[in-house]
Amino acid sequence: MRIVMLGAPGAGKGTQAKKLIEKYKIPQISTGDILRQSVAEGTPLGKEAKGFMDRGELVPDKVVLGLVEERLGQPDCKAGFILDGFPRNTAQAAALDGMLSKIGKPLQLAISVDVPFEDLMKRLTGRRTCRTCGQMYNVYFNAPAKEGKCDKDGAELYQRDDDKEETIRKRLQVYESQTAPLIEYYGGKGIVRRIKGTGSISDIFNAITAEIDKAGGK
Ligand code: AMP
Repeated sequence: MRIVMLGAPGAGKGTQAKKLIEKYKIPQISTGDILRQSVAEGTPLGKEAKGFMDRGELVPDKVVLGLVEERLGQPDCKAGFILDGFPRNTAQAAALDGMLSKIGKPLQLAISVDVPFEDLMKRLTGRRTCRTCGQMYNVYFNAPAKEGKCDKDGAELYQRDDDKEETIRKRLQVYESQTAPLIEYYGGKGIVRRIKGTGSISDIFNAITAEIDKAGGK
């Protein structure tokens, strides 16, 4: 399956994408994860992206499109992929359509995980991630047994730089103005499925997999 996950920052796209890759054995491509890794490694790409990310703005399309095209060309994407955090605006969506139509493999589903605005703030300000294994927690809803430490491996939990309150407001604003219009963009192509993103992680997962299975599953 070739799937795009839509939804505001904090809607749970990444969490669901990680579960979906296990079930469907296709890779998750998170532009945010790739960019964060480049920042951590101090690569030229990371240096270019960091300022935009710290301000909660979108990294320029040219930068992101280059890395997505490169990633989609890798062999593990042949059987499909789950794009998480990309596209973020209609220019990126149109560019993606172009890349996929060149290889005759259009997108099959755009899954929008919908969460009310008020809930997103708490989810994002409370989010903590394990430095070692990437396991995510939330100090409000899903706190680790021991404050600041991962339940799985005891490593330190950290807060993403862009999960600070001021940056979060900006990211949500950017989502509303630039990314939310993609629901209509893909709606026009008949491939949007809207999923209620509140409730248990497994209920949301079941709702998503029901849509994927209906659409053909592979
Ligand atoms: P995310 O982890 O998806 O919330 O992304 C974190 C940050 O990375 C965003 O706030 C942007 O600065 C940048 N970013 C991630 N994906 C994209 C994209 N598709 N286009 C532009 N910037 C992006």
